[in-house]
Amino acid sequence: MEDCVFCRIASKKIPAKMVKETDRLVVVKDINPQAPTHLLILPKAHYPTLLDCKDRDLLGEMLEAASDVARDLGVDKNGFRLVVNTNEEGGQTVFHLHMHFIAGRPLMGRMG
Ligand code: 5GP
Ligand code: ZN
Repeated sequence: MEDCVFCRIASKKIPAKMVKETDRLVVVKDINPQAPTHLLILPKAHYPTLLDCKDRDLLGEMLEAASDVARDLGVDKNGFRLVVNTNEEGGQTVFHLHMHFIAGRPLMGRMG
């Protein structure tokens, strides 16, 4: 989708700090990090929210990418948090399915 910022990042039409890429997803650094490590796991295909994606393989790949990145960055032992904000009260601001990968500081209770 031309007017979707994450479609444009996934297709490299606008730059982002890319950490990992597979056939079906990219992992990039969040532009406004909430922790020392704050990544976004984005499918290349456009799904507005989690509710719109029925592709179990893709959803599984997103979780697998999180595990891979955790090991690659060496935050697997200390731990990390995965978040999928969904719709307005979930705090979603970009309507292209994405999973936050947050690590590098103790995360108690709430995400922020
Ligand atoms: P949401 O609130 O929808 O769950 O998360 C959207 C996230 O995307 C926010 O953490 C925000 O900082 C990040 N973001 C928004 N625009 C851009 C961008 O152009 N590039 C990158 N790398 N991250 C972005
Ligand atoms: Zn999109």
